[in-house]
Amino acid sequence: MPPTIDITSYKGNIINGEFVPTPETRHSIDPATAEPLYEVPVARREDLDSAVQHARAAFKSWSKTPFSERSSLMLAYADALEANRAEIEKLQTMEQGKPLGLAHVEVDMTLRWLRTFATMEVKDEVIEDTDEKTIYSTFPPMGVCGAIVPWNWPILLGLGKVGPALMTGNTVIMKPSPYTPYCDLKLGELAMSIFPPGVVQVLSGNDDLGPWMTSHPGIDMISFTGSIATGKKVAKSCADTLKRYVLELGGNDAAIVCDDVDIAKCLPKIAITTFMNSGQICMLCKRIYVHEKIYDQFRDALVEFTKNNIKTGGGFEEGVTVGPIQNKMQFSLVKDMYEEIQKQGWKTALEGQVRSTSKGYFVEPAIIDNPPEDSRIVVEEPFGPIVPLLKWSADDEVIDRANALETGLGTSVWSGDLQRAERMGRQISAGSVWINSHFDVAPNVPFGGHKESGIGMEWGIEGFKHYTNTRSLWVWKKVFE
Ligand code: NAD
Repeated sequence: MPPTIDITSYKGNIINGEFVPTPETRHSIDPATAEPLYEVPVARREDLDSAVQHARAAFKSWSKTPFSERSSLMLAYADALEANRAEIEKLQTMEQGKPLGLAHVEVDMTLRWLRTFATMEVKDEVIEDTDEKTIYSTFPPMGVCGAIVPWNWPILLGLGKVGPALMTGNTVIMKPSPYTPYCDLKLGELAMSIFPPGVVQVLSGNDDLGPWMTSHPGIDMISFTGSIATGKKVAKSCADTLKRYVLELGGNDAAIVCDDVDIAKCLPKIAITTFMNSGQICMLCKRIYVHEKIYDQFRDALVEFTKNNIKTGGGFEEGVTVGPIQNKMQFSLVKDMYEEIQKQGWKTALEGQVRSTSKGYFVEPAIIDNPPEDSRIVVEEPFGPIVPLLKWSADDEVIDRANALETGLGTSVWSGDLQRAERMGRQISAGSVWINSHFDVAPNVPFGGHKESGIGMEWGIEGFKHYTNTRSLWVWKKVFE
């Protein structure tokens, strides 16, 4: 029987296969109502020390556990998540604000990710094989990994780190964002009944817990997803102990729409991948460059589509795409960007508005009509449902504009001429380039950023290798003949 969870009760952090309560507790809020949610632990330094000690002890046997056994446990874990998915999805909507349907998509993706991870073995590579010697690249695990998770996509991004860490033979300590601790704690609880003690641990804490992890000498590697500013702090802190790290940071993705597209066919996908999760995903369309020949037509169609199909509301309401902004800090940033519309005199194609009547953090989509290229709405990641439409006329010019920022997470090129689109795509500096799509990710495909959008890749065998060291193994065969 798979374990079952009670989403109303949080008995402690998950350390060495047990609930470990803390003297202090805290709670987060439901962003749709601003009502407090449940009390969760606040990890102290000694809780982290204890988790690290247990992770190091568990590493000894987990790193030697055969791949096939790790794989069976990963599949059992996916089954446990699936058996509890209705509760987890409800909890995700309560804590994160995303519409229930999107929480369902996040769990669907996570299940696919875990089940694919279970098949992905980083195998030895033979570099040279002669009568005299064989030289291999082998990939032993790092040891103890710290997984630091943001608040926008806590299930997939949390287990998207835990899975590869475990499959490559590491033990892992996951730290959710203080804004969204609930699902990740429950995922730890489910892991407790599947994996040996100390293999997967989850610590909920305050803002000091992340820096304690990145500076902890007993943690060997950090996998971090979050903002660029925090990513730089993580890198600095990891330098003190020469910890390895992977950084998945912010993006400001361009979508380049060529003059030969069928607007009706590409528009729904562009609109959805602009406003999904209220704009709070790293790799949404955040700057839409539309060829001047079709600019007006595209703009009007996008406005029409958004008005008719992109509804703002609570995550449990039917047909909602734009749920509340996840937290007060982010809400103030988004409000500030909406205030710029008036201050800077940007022309709006869709006005959008911040709802002041509700206790929740609701904002309606805004589309800015061809603002200056150096305006804040173009150069900053807004992380809210507001997007600029920008006019272009020549392929080379739009490529330069798409590449102009310090971010380089993803970019899409939309064109009926695949050769032209691919030629343009190959000149883009971004970790993912999509032709006639946006937002595609898969567990077996590396994902990451160029420039300030990150260091290293997650997922795919390349991502798995970031959780390993490379060890060159030389085997001389004839020395004692
Ligand atoms: P954030 O940087 O504020 O926080 C991310 C995590 O880091 C949280 O768990 C937080 O508690 C922790 N943290 C905060 N300060 C820390 C420190 N000094 N040391 C160690 N850990 C620390 O990011 P956020 O606001 O939660 O997430 C939004 C940002 O994440 C956006 O910029 C978004 O683009 C980016 N993001 C990137 C990806 C990606 O894969 N590239 C995915 C999702 C989100």
